[in-house]
Order: sequence, then structure tokens, then C-alpha cells
Amino acid sequence: MEFLQPGSWAEALGLKAERPEALPIAGGTDVMVELNFDARRPAELLDLTRVPELADWSCEDGLVRLGAGVSYTRLITELAGPLPGLALAARTVGSPQIRNRGTVGGNLGAASPAGDCHPPLLAAGAVIEVASVRGTRTIPADDFYTGVKRNALEPDELIAAVLIPAAAGPQQFSKIGTRNAMVIAVASFAVALDPGREAVGTGIGSAAPTPRRAIAAERFLAGTLDEAGLWESRGGLPESVVTEFGALAAAAANPVDDVRGTAAYRRHGLAVMARRTLTWAWHSYQAEGGA
Ligand SMILES: Cc1cc2nc3c(=O)[nH]c(=O)nc-3n(C[C@H](O)[C@H](O)[C@H](O)COP(=O)(O)OP(=O)(O)OC[C@H]3O[C@@H](n4cnc5c(N)ncnc54)[C@H](O)[C@@H]3O)c2cc1C
Repeated sequence: MEFLQPGSWAEALGLKAERPEALPIAGGTDVMVELNFDARRPAELLDLTRVPELADWSCEDGLVRLGAGVSYTRLITELAGPLPGLALAARTVGSPQIRNRGTVGGNLGAASPAGDCHPPLLAAGAVIEVASVRGTRTIPADDFYTGVKRNALEPDELIAAVLIPAAAGPQQFSKIGTRNAMVIAVASFAVALDPGREAVGTGIGSAAPTPRRAIAAERFLAGTLDEAGLWESRGGLPESVVTEFGALAAAAANPVDDVRGTAAYRRHGLAVMARRTLTWAWHSYQAEGGA
């Protein structure tokens, strides 16, 4: 196996263009498992850990540009303020060792429906910045996941960064697993409230072939909050609204029965997580307003 080690972004893109079959490796927490189990035997590995451009983040005009190679540990310690939903999800990933190595870029590259970054990225309206020697393009997270463990990258492209609006309101994330740590999600859910735009974002994980939004739930909640004047008053959420939001979130899923859980359990869990995360987020919104 050839091990390619570019020292710059331009060199990495050049190598990927020359050898589109080369498998990128960032933290290696997915790739090394596949190699160890002989699930994959690529002729070439393209090591991205020496590309300085991938290891940086910046925040300008309310938009965080998170380099694909920033570890979960750094995300949690440095970006929990502007990216609370993603930081909550990152805290649930693996163990400290996995969080030290693993990256959001790797989660997107693997595109597992169970990946923990996807629901908060969808809820926040994130956009994936990808590049090749042909140029750079952006793909909304909504369009990035194309099938089970498949994404919208062309063979010569690499993920450069994720562009995520800094939180304009409360964000929450919840994950059900078979134990408390080191666990692949049986189902997960993220919600983001944007009171300034009177908008609601959601993301569902591990309950459909790809991560996806619960669009009907978003529209229902944003519309109801608007009609009832609740964005302004920050009054209590009627129980019926919370229940309907949960039901619509569960209805957006298309889960399967597998070793980790049944489709029925996943749907039930999603309704519960959607109700809980909305309630937590709304309480934060009320508290911020001094209610
Ligand atoms: C013990 C253990 C526990 C885990 N727990 C969790 C968990 O709780 N939640 C969770 O979501 N995941 C979990 N994972 C999976 C893994 O840690 C995550 O998916 C992580 O985000 C992968 O990041 P990485 O940098 O290690 O990716 P890598 O393994 O280096 O790469 C993953 C994929 O992305 C591609 N890739 C990487 N970077 C780029 C790039 N810049 N451009 C294009 N493609 C790229 C690679 O080619 C590969 O296909 C766990 C893994 C292990 C081994």
C-alpha cells in the first residue's frame, strides 16, 4: 500500500486528481477499523494530517468555517459557544481517544446515517465546502448525503471545511444508544431555534438511509410559534404543540429493524427526543429572556 503525505492543500488536491482511487485518511478512526477488518484494501492512502489548512477554524460575520481536520476535542473546547449543537453531539462521540483523533470531515467522509455530526449540521443549515484542482464548490448539508454511507463528493474532490452559521438561539442534541458511552446511535435528533429569523431547524440521525431533516416538524413549529406570538412573548409551549412536533419528527423518519433496534423503537425514540430537545431549547430561550 502506498502512503501519500501531502504537506499542503494544493499538493493534496493535486494528488487526489492524479490518483482519485487514493483513500483520504484524517483521524483514521473509521479508516483504520476498515483496514483492520479487511473491509477495504486501498492501493493508496492519502494522509491529510500534515495539511495545515485543514486544521484551522475561523469565525467571521456570524459564520464559522470549520476546517475538515479539526478534532472533536478542539471543537468541544474552542467552539461550544458559536456551535452548541455540534459541540453537544461531539461530546457523545466515542471516547476521549476517539475525540482526540476523529474529525467532522471524517464523519462527513464516512457519511454513516448514524454519524453524530449530521443532525446538528442539518439543523444549523450547514454547508460543506469541497474542492478539487477544478475549483471549490459548496454543498448544503441537505444535499450532501446521497445514500447509506454515500456522499456527494466527486472522486477527485476532498472536503475542505464546513460552513456553519454561529448559533442565533438555543440548540440541542439527543442520542439514544444501547449504553451511555462508546456507542453508535440507535437514533438521534437535533433542534436549532433561530428567533431572529423565526426559524426552526432539525436533523434526524440513524433512522433513515441518510441523515435528514424533519421538514414538516420545522414548518409546523415555526408557524405555530409565529401565530401564537410565542417568539416575542417567550410564553410556555402548549403540551399539544410539543406532542405534535414529536409526532411529526417521528413521521419524517424511515427507519429499519437491525441489530441495534427496531424501526418501531427508533420512531418512538425520535418522538421522545424531539419533545425533550424542544422543551430544553425552549426553556433556554425563556431563561435568556428573563422569563
Ligand atoms: C471506538 C470508536 C467509537 C466511535 N464512536 C463514534 C460515535 O460515537 N459517533 C460517531 O459519529 N462516530 C463514531 N466513530 C466513528 C468515527 O470516529 C467518526 O466517524 C469520525 O468522525 C471519523 O473521523 P476521522 O477523522 O477519524 O475519519 P477517517 O477515519 O480518517 O476517515 C473517515 C472517512 O472520511 C474520509 N475523509 C476523511 N477526511 C476527508 C476529507 N477531508 N475529504 C474527503 N474525505 C475525507 C475518509 O476517506 C474515510 O472514508 C467511532 C469510531 C470508533 C473506532
